[in-house]
Amino acid sequence: MADTTATSSATGRLEGKVALITGGASGIGEATVKLFIKHGAKVCIADIHDDRGEQLCESFGGGKHAIFFHCDVSKEDDVSKAVDFTVETFGTLDILVNNAGITGHKVLDIREVDFREFKKVFEINVDGVFLGMKHAARVMIPRGKGSIISLASVASVIGGMGPHGYTGSKHAVVGLTKSVAAELGKHGIRVNCVSPYAIPTGLSMAHLPESERTEDAVKDFLAFVGSHANLKGINLGVGDVAEAVLFLASDEARYVSGLNLTVDGGFSVVNNELK
Ligand code: NAD
Repeated sequence: MADTTATSSATGRLEGKVALITGGASGIGEATVKLFIKHGAKVCIADIHDDRGEQLCESFGGGKHAIFFHCDVSKEDDVSKAVDFTVETFGTLDILVNNAGITGHKVLDIREVDFREFKKVFEINVDGVFLGMKHAARVMIPRGKGSIISLASVASVIGGMGPHGYTGSKHAVVGLTKSVAAELGKHGIRVNCVSPYAIPTGLSMAHLPESERTEDAVKDFLAFVGSHANLKGINLGVGDVAEAVLFLASDEARYVSGLNLTVDGGFSVVNNELK
């Protein structure tokens, strides 16, 4: 989907660093992969979308800057192997971006929500983040450094922003971030999360079949979220979120840990009646 986004002209902020990015085959993850490589990082894309992930690696010349690993973040064995594959290929792991996520069940009425579908959202959005943190810590603790960034959402700080599974799971990402930041600080490891407002991606347009995610549908989406946004005149793009992730990954954020960085144009501040 077309992106209208801020991009910094500086480069080299991640020179020599190695990153693992889950859900890196599309949307915010893909934008983060591209920005990280632009800034000198080597990246392992861990995703269930093999074709897209492999194509993205190929677009960087295949293997030198980016590698792909098939990984379902809800499965511990997959996550553990993705971390090991990254270290075996590029020699270390400096940055983990827990980006993979789903909206899950679309039903809003709690009486109608299917429990298995509710649990599925937590398996990917929460278990996936926990497993990434657990296996990254295994590599980062002996090195005494590292940066872990997870994608939460504006739905991590207010209610009424989506289905219960999504909102509950994103609040849990913030809780895990604080808990693990508190534990890993003594090892020199920073743990943060980023909470964007709405952007047209596969996830946010999942209510439409792929064939109906046309330019007009994206325009309608942008008009809708724009009319509810606090900050007017700018559409949030995936690159804006990638820039926030880059900041937290970089040494410029060397004293930032335990933060939930909202990239929401102030939406959650003015909509605090939803809290
Ligand atoms: P997207 O659908 O474009 O990308 C998500 C990626 O995650 C896809 O490549 C998908 O294949 C992958 N994925 C899904 N399930 C997976 C699994 N089990 N294991 C590994 N990979 C898996 O969505 P996006 O909008 O780029 O979302 C990225 C993150 O940003 C999510 O955590 C989402 O909750 C969060 N977020 C998105 C928005 C938005 O409006 N788009 C807003 C706030 C937060």
